[in-house]
Amino acid sequence: MTPKTSPAWTTEDSARLYRIHEWSAGYFDVTETGDVAVKVNFPSGDVRVSLMDIVAGVHQRDLQMPVLLRIENLLDSQIALLNESFRAAIAQQGYRGRYQGVFPIKVNQQRNVIEEIARFGARYNHGLEAGSKAELIVALSALSDSQALIVCNGYKDPEFIDLGLRARKLGYRCVFVIETPTELPIILERSRALGIRPLIGVRAKLATTVGGHWNKTSGDRSIFGLSTSQLISIVDALKENDLLDCLQLLHCHLGSQIPNIRDIRQAVMEACRYYINLVQEGAPMGFLDLGGGLAVDYLGSKTNNVLSMNYSMDEYCADIVEVIMQSLDAEEVPHPTIVTESGRSTVAYYSLLLFNIFDVTYFEPTPLPQAPAEDEHTLIHSLYSVLERFKPAKIQQSYNNTIYYRDEIRELFKRGQISLRSRALAENLVLEIFRRIVVALDQADETPPELEGLREHLADIYYGNLSIFQSLPDAWAIDQVFPLMPIHRLDERPTREAIIADITCDSDGRIDHFIDLHGTRNTLPLHLLNPDEDYYLGAFLVGAYQETLGDLHNLFGDTNVVSIRVNEDGSFDVTREIQGDSIADILGYVQYNPKDIFERFRDTAEQAVRRGAISVRERQEILERFSASLRGYTYYETDA
Ligand SMILES: *Cc1c(COP(=O)(O)O)cnc(C)c1O
Repeated sequence: MTPKTSPAWTTEDSARLYRIHEWSAGYFDVTETGDVAVKVNFPSGDVRVSLMDIVAGVHQRDLQMPVLLRIENLLDSQIALLNESFRAAIAQQGYRGRYQGVFPIKVNQQRNVIEEIARFGARYNHGLEAGSKAELIVALSALSDSQALIVCNGYKDPEFIDLGLRARKLGYRCVFVIETPTELPIILERSRALGIRPLIGVRAKLATTVGGHWNKTSGDRSIFGLSTSQLISIVDALKENDLLDCLQLLHCHLGSQIPNIRDIRQAVMEACRYYINLVQEGAPMGFLDLGGGLAVDYLGSKTNNVLSMNYSMDEYCADIVEVIMQSLDAEEVPHPTIVTESGRSTVAYYSLLLFNIFDVTYFEPTPLPQAPAEDEHTLIHSLYSVLERFKPAKIQQSYNNTIYYRDEIRELFKRGQISLRSRALAENLVLEIFRRIVVALDQADETPPELEGLREHLADIYYGNLSIFQSLPDAWAIDQVFPLMPIHRLDERPTREAIIADITCDSDGRIDHFIDLHGTRNTLPLHLLNPDEDYYLGAFLVGAYQETLGDLHNLFGDTNVVSIRVNEDGSFDVTREIQGDSIADILGYVQYNPKDIFERFRDTAEQAVRRGAISVRERQEILERFSASLRGYTYYETDA
């Protein structure tokens, strides 16, 4: 193997190219040997562990790619960062209240995540937010800290309410946030029946609208929250029922991934007016819950692009504390406990998807075109002369001629006037001319509009061992872009431009948007594959929302999951490994019975024996392989 190392290329160049220092929030870095490493901060200093060492550990445990890797330290670190940033802002500005966060379970419901948040978050009384009965049950089973909040959002039926009321009785700080007016009578009735006084919050529908993908969650037409007149009716009803003292929390949520800090300030300002008025109505209040929205800078560009954010965590906390103080001090209203429901920012960094490339289509002429034989069609000779006479100054003309001859030749092929072999020669000539045009464009000052897509037209297709529908659903559904890069060979110059196709047979199963400074680019620089060496990529920042939104397109199932914890001495422990779905598991999800399937196949094989098509011994071997397939992983397996 001869790695094509260009002496001029350094790991620094790779770090810049893939923007790792910009998007990784300090959690990932490039090692001197050209691997991506996870970086964990300990009191004694930073510890780096190469992701390639982790991949080796995964293979030693007999787990195949793709693997979802969870790094527990990063979850702890993000919880600490959020809480410490609020503490610092509160101390610095002399705010007379505290911060108490909750994690919204819907953002990542995996037991691992919730248990770690409950365990590590206990020192900050970090709680959980539940949007359904199932999530409330998760919260109750995970939390033991009686100071931590359980905020119940979502539509609540009598059973949901009963569950929450009984949790109150057991000492949980479980708050019902009223989303619609119909919930109040249920709460009144059930709390009377059970003799338990509820903790009540109200969700306000703010008029402030925010930028970003989720802006429909904000403004008048938001499907969530109470209008001002509904809010007033609820206050009146609580007064009538002598329950106004139960109203302790105001909630608002403007949507996820809010890129612009000015929108957040505006929303907090409006929320404060609601809060002040509820206090003036006689409610005790005490908690101001600002929902989620704290963004993740997927691009690493610090802008108000929907994939980025124009503020830091410190700024977010400081601005919230400042706006609340300014608004409330003017009305002499006591400072509430600030609650946020930050989900995305808490878990995004903690998971990454590792996958290998199992095949590549290089878009380049193979074999290199040579002069056509005398008796080739004249159009092919014309095409060849475009190549021979190619000049960088005449890009557009060469392009026009090439397209013309190519289309004519394809037409002739359709009518049976030239052979497949001749057409293949022509297509190779076209690729070579296009390749030269792109090289010339790289040198040119500007690209003619018609030629803008040519580079992508020539991009290689790298086939990744993953299903986007299963592992990166937002990349498919809402054009989310995740940082993606090779996790090794970063001391080599990547010489190819590529898009990634996944393993499903769906033309949407592709990644052709990659992060860039001010948005996205359509190709990703990658390395030529080395023979006999696997090539590994990582999709980063996938800890939020991706794990349970995924589906079983083409029956690719859950991937293997490995959780690790990095130790202060530079070693790492595999704290949990979860085998991905087997083919039998997946078939079960769509109502097949793997046992029936096997028996039917066995009958088919038996009939073949009777016909004399195979021997009994062959039958046994076929059945054993079939059975092994049923037990096997749904993804591309390298070693049979
Ligand atoms: C989804 C959701 C969140 C989480 O928002 P992030 O932007 O991921 O922090 C918080 N609160 C509510 C009510 C939600 O629906």
